[in-house]
Amino acid sequence: MTHRIAVVGSGPAGLTFARVLHRHDHPVALLERDPAPDARPPGGTLDLHEGLGQLALDKAGLLAEFQTLSRPEGQAMRILDTAGTVLRDWRPRPDDRAHPEIDRGQLRDLLLGPLDISWGRGVTQVVPGTGDGAVVHFEDGRRETFDLVVGADGAWSRVRPAVSSVTPHYTGVTSVETSLDDIDTRHPDLARLVGDGSVGVYGANRALVAQRNSGGHVRVYAQFRAPLDRHSGSGPADVEAVRSGLLALFDGWAAPVLGLLRHGTAFVHRPLYALPVSHTWNHVPGVTLLGDAAHLMPPLGAGANLAMLDGAELAEAVAAASGPGDLDEAVRAFEERMWERAERWAKITTAGLERLVSPDPAQALALFEEVQSS
Ligand SMILES: Cc1cc2nc3c(=O)[nH]c(=O)nc-3n(C[C@H](O)[C@H](O)[C@H](O)COP(=O)(O)OP(=O)(O)OC[C@H]3O[C@@H](n4cnc5c(N)ncnc54)[C@H](O)[C@@H]3O)c2cc1C
Repeated sequence: MTHRIAVVGSGPAGLTFARVLHRHDHPVALLERDPAPDARPPGGTLDLHEGLGQLALDKAGLLAEFQTLSRPEGQAMRILDTAGTVLRDWRPRPDDRAHPEIDRGQLRDLLLGPLDISWGRGVTQVVPGTGDGAVVHFEDGRRETFDLVVGADGAWSRVRPAVSSVTPHYTGVTSVETSLDDIDTRHPDLARLVGDGSVGVYGANRALVAQRNSGGHVRVYAQFRAPLDRHSGSGPADVEAVRSGLLALFDGWAAPVLGLLRHGTAFVHRPLYALPVSHTWNHVPGVTLLGDAAHLMPPLGAGANLAMLDGAELAEAVAAASGPGDLDEAVRAFEERMWERAERWAKITTAGLERLVSPDPAQALALFEEVQSS
């Protein structure tokens, strides 16, 4: 039996779900609010772990292509103190493929392949239990009914209220993001500081992290504890005001480190939100959630990996289910597996954020040493 399946959102979760279903020759409606693939910049770089994101790509038949596109050298990690002294400088072995980096845009194109996305189809709500299935309501007033609607629509999911009344809470940490282009030619000193992968500088309740993307593009994240409304400006007119606010906040840090802020172009303000560590819901036939919609957590390198593995596992379960009862059982069993894995990672990333942006910078270094030796 071919079920009528819709997935809302074409981020890592929705795309992986659709791509694995496609591999199993199962049709799926992929509904995306963005009007076009290039409507927004695709974002920075992601490290995909063996056993998580890489396992999901394997299930999609895309692991070999990922290995060609990804950057194993991007696993390099350097830790500095606020005076600019290098405390640790970890470089990957040549054969290390534990968690290579890939640009989000490259990953999206890889997953997209032959998939057909319905662009400009913003969903406003999903109403389950109508007899014929779950009804998707669109921003343009149209409605469509499916046997299963999968909410892969991120942190502020419009599908989530169909199964859970919980909403994300502010973690107390804000990240302000900026970027530098052509770093090797325009800022060779900063290029050396960042190296092939990432550099993290940790002070009391503040951190500055820079990550190399492909093509000499570097993303910089200034993270600090602050009330929710701090540095809320992010429009082009605010660039110099945000820059001087950040330079004041990081006052006293080594000049080469602050160069990452001085030369950054636009600034984007991202208060970090999370769902409760043990977020679950009473199973609702016809609707489920994946990725950030189900388990938004601090961005410590797990969210996209979990989103992709959720997508791949649910797709395999759906493809294997024949009757309507089988589909519901498959989704129910998937949710149990996803909740258990997500809770484990939510605990790790929540504790990790506490240590990375902490009154005692030695906590951040200790965390990296634990990760590097595991
Ligand atoms: C700065 C930063 C760095 C990160 N680095 C990493 C990392 O290195 N490794 C890692 O694993 N994770 C990382 N993460 C986390 C990761 O980005 C997320 O966990 C991941 O993107 C979640 O994927 P998703 O598909 O669930 O949701 P999203 O990526 O949020 O995708 C949701 C999609 O749904 C669409 N959508 C939203 N609302 C609607 C609607 N109403 N109707 C239709 N479509 C809709 C959106 O347009 C979007 O395309 C990072 C996060 C941040 C903020």
